[in-house]
Amino acid sequence: MIPEVAFIGRSNIGKSSLINGLVNRNGLVKTSSKPGHTRMMNFFKMGDKLSLVDMPGYGFKSRDEWGGMILSYLQNRKNLRRIYILVDPSHGLKESDTQIMKLLDNSGLSYQVVLTKMDRLSKTKYSAAKAEIEAELVKDAICCFPLVLGVSSKTKDGLDELRAAIVKAGQL
Ligand code: GDP
Repeated sequence: MIPEVAFIGRSNIGKSSLINGLVNRNGLVKTSSKPGHTRMMNFFKMGDKLSLVDMPGYGFKSRDEWGGMILSYLQNRKNLRRIYILVDPSHGLKESDTQIMKLLDNSGLSYQVVLTKMDRLSKTKYSAAKAEIEAELVKDAICCFPLVLGVSSKTKDGLDELRAAIVKAGQL
């Protein structure tokens, strides 16, 4: 099994746009939807070395359902190297985000925060929002990779850095 990284986040966070941006630029190919998981997750292959897994957004599904179905998937993926949690810097960390992070911390699953739609904020506002989120993560999160990345699928800002981080995570 090749290494994989998973993408999660609240519904409407910009996950599809982000994965699409990564796919188009890098020629990633959508390979398969696991039977029985078709509405849950999609798999994208990056070369023959890494898979990206698009997980369903949380917010619509109840936390229990998310926790039960998705978490058990994440816990049982031996080849899962890292989980990318997408957060909107305009809104900051929501309770659903911190609840998911706690679940990941309790399971010892490594994750990294990616701030989406950074084009919507001025540089100053983005920096302030990022600093606030980083301060919260330092306080509470255990298995969080210490580098918070920012991306815009609209302007493509930050996509190269994210790709590099993904590839590196896949090699761990
Ligand atoms: P998903 O539900 O997490 O898959 O979110 P989508 O990728 O479908 O995006 C939700 C909405 O946010 C759509 O209206 C997108 O056009 C918008 N959006 C996504 N990424 C960006 C971005 O980088 N910048 C801006 N300004 N809007 C974005």
